[in-house]
Order: sequence, then C-alpha cells, then structure tokens
Amino acid sequence: MIDFFWHTKTVEQAFEYFGSSREGLLPGQVDLQRQKFGSNTLPEKKPDAIWMIFLKQFQSPLIYILVGAGILILVIGEYTDALIIFLVLVFNAVVGAIQEGKARNTLASLKKLVETKAAILRGGLEEIITDAEVVAGDVLVLREGDKIPADARVIFAHKLIVNEASLTGESQPAYKTDGVLSGEKLATAEQKNMLFKGTSVLAGSGMAVVTSTGVHTVIGGISEMIAAMESEDPIKREVRVLSKIIIATVVAMSIVLFIAGLLAGKSATEMFATVVSLAVSVIPEGLPIVLTLVLAAGVWRMSKKNALVKKLQAVESLGQAGVIAVDKTGTITKNELTVTRVYVGGKTFLVEGSGYLPKGAILEDGKNSLPNEGVELLAELSAFCAGAHVAFSEEKKVWQVSGDPTEAALLVFAEKAGVVKTELEHEWPQVAEIPFSYQSKYHAVLHRAGKRGRFAVAGAAERVLELSSLLWHEKKNIRLSQAARGEMEEVISAMSASGLRVLGVATKNSSALSLEPNGIGNLTLVGFIGMKDVVRPEVKSALAAAKEAGIKIVMITGDHKMTARAIAEETGIYTPKSLVLEGAEIEDMTDAALAQTVGEVSVFARVTPEHKLRIIEAYKATGEIIAMTGDGVNDAPSLVAADLGVAMGKIGTEVAKEAADIILLDDNFGSIVLAVEEGRNIYKTIKKVILYLFSTGLGEVLTITGAIFLGFPLPVLASQIIWLNFVTDGFLDVSLATEPREEGLLFEPRLKKTAFVDSLMVKRMVFMALPMSIGSLWLFHYYMSGDIVKARTIALTVLAAFQWFNAWNCRSEKESIFKMNFWSNKFLLGATAIVIILQLLAVYQPIMQKFLHTTSLTFGEWLLVVAVSSSIVWVEELRKMRVRKIGLI
Ligand code: ADP
Ligand code: MG
Repeated sequence: MIDFFWHTKTVEQAFEYFGSSREGLLPGQVDLQRQKFGSNTLPEKKPDAIWMIFLKQFQSPLIYILVGAGILILVIGEYTDALIIFLVLVFNAVVGAIQEGKARNTLASLKKLVETKAAILRGGLEEIITDAEVVAGDVLVLREGDKIPADARVIFAHKLIVNEASLTGESQPAYKTDGVLSGEKLATAEQKNMLFKGTSVLAGSGMAVVTSTGVHTVIGGISEMIAAMESEDPIKREVRVLSKIIIATVVAMSIVLFIAGLLAGKSATEMFATVVSLAVSVIPEGLPIVLTLVLAAGVWRMSKKNALVKKLQAVESLGQAGVIAVDKTGTITKNELTVTRVYVGGKTFLVEGSGYLPKGAILEDGKNSLPNEGVELLAELSAFCAGAHVAFSEEKKVWQVSGDPTEAALLVFAEKAGVVKTELEHEWPQVAEIPFSYQSKYHAVLHRAGKRGRFAVAGAAERVLELSSLLWHEKKNIRLSQAARGEMEEVISAMSASGLRVLGVATKNSSALSLEPNGIGNLTLVGFIGMKDVVRPEVKSALAAAKEAGIKIVMITGDHKMTARAIAEETGIYTPKSLVLEGAEIEDMTDAALAQTVGEVSVFARVTPEHKLRIIEAYKATGEIIAMTGDGVNDAPSLVAADLGVAMGKIGTEVAKEAADIILLDDNFGSIVLAVEEGRNIYKTIKKVILYLFSTGLGEVLTITGAIFLGFPLPVLASQIIWLNFVTDGFLDVSLATEPREEGLLFEPRLKKTAFVDSLMVKRMVFMALPMSIGSLWLFHYYMSGDIVKARTIALTVLAAFQWFNAWNCRSEKESIFKMNFWSNKFLLGATAIVIILQLLAVYQPIMQKFLHTTSLTFGEWLLVVAVSSSIVWVEELRKMRVRKIGLI
C-alpha cells in the first residue's frame, strides 16, 4: 500500500479519501470499506499442526534423557527394553499431543472473551464495536483508558495524552494535536496528529479518523515479529526448574546404584540396563503435560464463573490471597446510580422514580415542586455536565447507559425536572470541557450561545464547596460565609450518612469563553445532588464465604467517608471496631505507620490511585498476599503492583484489563471468592499428581536399592520397570488430574507455601515409599530362593498393585478413602480398571510373558499380592487420622 503520510494532510483530505465525515461512515459503507482497505485484524501465528504438537512433546530435557537411555540400551543389545522405552516415549507423546491440543483450544476460546472494544461514530451515532470490526474511515471517539484500535488521524484533541511506549518504546506520554505537520519522513513518535494501533489514551479526550487498519498499521508492519516472540509461561518455567532438579537427582542416584551393584557382584550390562530403566521410570515425563492440563481445565472452570485468568501464575496467588481490596463503585455496588435527593436554595427535594427511566416526580414536602427555579437551574447545570447517554434498549427492554453512570444519573434527573439535554445543547453548544478526573474530582464544561457563555461544574461535594465563594439563594448569589459553609458541610454529611453519593453543582457568572483548570475557582455553589447506588445482592454471601476462608475484604473508594461507611456497614465489611481511613490521613502517615495501621482498616475513603499504591505496599509489608480490583487507567499501576490484579470486565477500561492478572467478566465481587476457591483447587490437584508420581517413583528406587544392598538378585528387570512406569504414568496420573474439587476448600487454613514440592510433601513421599519398598522386598525375598521368574512376576505385580492403591490414597491429604465418594472421579475408576486388566495381560498373556519375562500367578499368590500392597492404604489411613486430629504437620 502506498503511504499517504496522513500527518501531512488535513482532516478534510482524510475524510474525502475515505468517503467519511465528522459523523462517521454510514452503516451501509462499512462492508465496502473493509473490502477496499482491508480488515482490522493482524495475522495470527498459525496454530501448530497436530504433528508439530506431537514432535514438540519430545522437546523436554526429561525426554532427551529417555531417548539417550533408549539408544544406550539398544547399543548394549537389550532390544526388548529399548523397544519398550521407545514405545513409552511415543505413547507419552501421543497422549501429550492430544492433551495439549485440548488445552490449547480451551485457552484460545478464552482469548475471544477478552476482545477489546472501540467506540466509534457511524451515521452520527455512537456505537461500541470490537476492534476487529473497525474499518478505514471510521471516526473513533476516544476517552481516558481506551485502547486505540487502528492508526488514525486526529480530528480534534482535548488534552489528549497517549501512551505509546508499546510502539515507540518511549515512556514519555505523547501529547496529541489536530494540526497539519510537515515532513513526510517524520518519525512515528513525532507524528503528534496521528494515533497508532495498540497504544492507549492516558488522559483527555478526542476524535480521530481511521487511516489504516490491520496489517497496514505501524504495529501491523512489525506484528510478525511480535507473533514470533512467544514468551514462556511461568508454569513451564517452574516445570523446567523442577525437571533440572529431577535430572540431577536421577543421575546422581544412578551412578551410586551402578557402583553399588558392581560392588555387589552384578554384571555391568545388567546393572546398566537396570539403572537406565530405573532412571526412565523415575523421570515423570508425563508431568509437564499433566500440569498444563490441570491448569487449562481450571482456568476454563473459572471462566465459567466469569473469572478470566490471563496469567497462569495468578492461580497460585489466588489460592493464597489474604486481603482483597475491592472498589466500592461497580464491584460492591452495581454502579447504577439514581438521584433520590437534591438540595438547592436551602430546601431538600425528593426525587421519585427508579433506574434510568426518565420519569418521576420531584417532591417538596410530599407535593410536586415543579415549577421551581432552583430545581430547574440545578437540572440545567446537571445536564450540561452529563456526558453520558441513556437510551431504551428495545432488545433488552431496559434503559441502558453509555458513559459514566454518575453522569447518566445527572441526565435522568434533569429530564425528570423537564430539562432535555439535546435541546439544551442545541441552544448552547459545548465549547470546552475538563473531564472528571480522580485528582481534580470535578467535571467542568463551558457552553456558548453567541457571546454568552454558560459554565457548569459538578464534582465531589466538598471539593465543589471548597472551590465556591458564593451561594445561589433565592435567585441571588450571596457570599458564602463561614456559617453558611458549615451549614453546607452539614447538608453533605447528612446526605452521605444515608449512603448517598453526593455531588456538588456550581456555576460561575462569567462570560469567560475559555476553560482553564487554574481558572476554576470563585464558583457559585448551586446545590447538591444525592444519588443512590444499589448494593449487589450477592455481596453479602460472598463476603461471608471470604471471611470463612480467612480472607479479609477491605473497601476502597473515592467517595465520601460517610457514604463509604454506610455502604460498608450495610454489607458487613465495616465492623464497629475497624477503622475508616481517608486519603488525606494516608498522606500524613509514613509508610511504616501505614503498614501498622492497615490491619485494622476496613474502609479507605476519598483515596486516589496514588494512595492505592501505598496501601498495596503497606499490606505487602505486613506479609499478606493482596488482591486488588480496579477499573480506571490510573488503577493500572496498582493492578500491576498487587500480587493479584483484578480488573472489571464491564466497567473496566481497556488499560486496566491489560494490566490485570484476572478479569471479572460480570464485575461481580462474588466471582473473586469463587475464583479463590478454584485457585486453591488447581493448586491442590497439581500437588496430588506430583505426590503420586514422585512417591511411586521413590518406592521403586528404594526397592531396587534395597535389593542391591541386601545382596538380593534384582527384583524387577529393566523391561519390567519400564512396564510399571508405562502402566502408572500413562493412566493413573492423568486421571488424578481430573479429581473433582474438594468440598470446603474455602474453609481450610490458607495455603502459605508457594513451591509445589515442600517439606511436608517430601515427608509424605518417603512415608508412602517405605511401605512400598519394604512390602515388595519382603514378598520377593519370600519367593526368591525358588523360581526367580515367579519371584520377579510377584515383585512386579505387587509394585503395580501398590500404585493402584496409592493413586486412591492421593485423592485427599486428610480424608479417609472409605469416606470419599467412590464414584466421583470416573476417570480414576476407568483408569484403575484399565491398569488392572493390563497387569493381568502382563501376567497371563503368552506374548507379554515373553516380553516381560513373567509367568502365571495362582489365586493364592494374587491374594498375597493384594494383601501386601493394600498395606499402603492402612499406613496412609493412620496418617490421615492423625492429621484430622492434630492438623497437617
Ligand atoms: P469511586 O471510587 O466511588 O468511583 P471516584 O473517585 O470516581 O470514586 O469519585 C469521587 C467523587 O467524585 C464521587 O463521590 C462523586 O461525588 C464525584 N464524581 C464521580 N464521578 C463524577 C463525574 N463523572 N462527574 C462529577 N462528579 C463525579
Ligand atoms: Mg468512579
């Protein structure tokens, strides 16, 4: 495509070229534009073909060792053993490829849920569409926190600041303008009138016309490079580290065993085959794939509960979260605001009606108050400040809001008072605006008709009071005396104490035709608006569950202390002994003092995103793992800083979603608690699988080592060891991974350990491996002096049977296997049946007998085998009983 250097062209030239206008494209044009200029999608990295996934299964240090072992065994002439090793490898790769393919599909379908959205104008109407649907010529409506969906030429910019670090690498925010620039060769970072796909709006607002989409964008040009940069996910890294430890242990163990065997008079070939087969069997080559499977399945289940996990390691922190700091607005409440009370001209009015339906009377002392000059002025100023739209959705049969719900409530209130924003705007078009920000806590607008200007400010009540020097009263502006100020403060407290979010509304008698932030002052306070927000019904039960789980919930809000406390009291977050800390108080505290205090705080009020960062650090300093919710652009740093950043899927800005580890698709706080439970479940399942794999491996090693040290012949031959490994790893570990969630995970003490293998686990491994090896050796010893083939068949079978029982042991770390639902893990049942049948074949089927050097067993011998191998159940049951009595040690 030819480069048009749009930064050197006027906006009109761009409109003309793309057949667009300030109203955007017409809906009918869209398809044609897409055909002409291409769609806004970047080529995705082609998913690997199934045979590639299959081959990739061999890319693991564990497998390299196995392949090496197979080749060595082939060289020394043990063809059967080598064949079995290679069969195991192929089988493992087939299972792995299938599982990975499945996991990949799940993760891919989850990705679809995080599609970014863009606001555009089509035919003069604002629409929200997915990024992929944007076409050249579309007019973008940009607000704080939006991601820029395509490259675009700025139409107008109001204090538009963009973060282009992802593209230019410059962390300096870029200020955007709408003028024409000269110089075709201008660097991307210098093109101040262009916006680029993949960057995001830090502050301000603006509009832009899309000039290139998809592969034609700047980032599209380098996207192939990006697609190639696949980052390794942390779980894989953890497995890699674990693999290295395993390999080192196995190699050391093999060398010791080999030498011990030689010293005990065994032949070098025999010892070599044994040691290599043992190494093969101890190496849990199935582990990486089982981990991926467990995680992908868990992440999938969480998504069903509307918690989308973006970073897999988040799952680990999830299970351990000790504090969850939650935003009030939108998370604890629905963020569906309705004005219920207003104060103007010394009087209080009640506003009737519910939701965003613009119908309801405005009452004074129970009687309709309209017409009333004060209410009407307040309504007009509210309408000026309301940047949101409210429209009836025919499809959903509800009144829906696009934009800030606080401003939508202002709009609805205005309509109830008979002021229609569109008519007002027609007469008084807006000429300037300072959008609401966390720092300033107000929203100011300037509207103009000819030479006359109208000025309106709405914002946090005390903030507006602070900025005012006059008070509107009975058509006059009177000086805001100290006494009047005190009175106003009382009005604010009274409204806030009943849980209302209170906004102050002010104006200025001035014909000022511009709007400067430092010029906002000496306002005329007109009145206050009290809005009710509805507490989400599920909050109370979720909160109770979190408390049981030992998780502390604290509320964070930019709202007034009284409003915050009223809502916190209603939900049970605030308890009389706890503290409510305000942003201003945080500012006066040192980090150390804050860390000492946070433990007792239940509500943080009037905080800014900067305070949030300090709050996170304070909790971290107390050693807690903290999860934090957020939705705005300014929340992004806190979402990153928290151990677990949680973004709101609906009200959250794209920037917040990008910074988060988890996205709550339904903005529901209850989902966090469910996700915590699921996180604990995933973590536990992984531990179960690891315990099973390692304890059985250790049991086999101890059996062979024991035999060598006791001067016995080898109890199991190389091919038999591989068979054991094949029987166990292939089926039982995967089926343990599907173990259903344990009941009451939330009520358990919080997990503190982060490593998958901790000292408790090592103790349990040894504890399980000992009966396994002692039992096998004892039984082998019993038959050893007779037919050695029979003795080995018995040893092989008892070791296999130990593993059947052990898989069932590993289902729970403290619950008796007789108390657990026998049928709840169908895969484990099936897998157990399969491995038993396979073992029967190994013992009775003539060809298998030849391969595995086995012979038939009698019924009595089977009884003996089962009796001995079931000992592991009794040992574990005793341990579990002890755990139930005195807890995990
Ligand atoms: P929250 O955490 O409750 O969302 P914010 O920092 O967004 O807190 O808001 C703080 C205060 O600013 C609110 O209590 C309200 O009085 C005022 N406010 C919030 N949004 C707007 C807006 N769009 N326009 C004017 N005032 C607002
Ligand atoms: Mg807010």
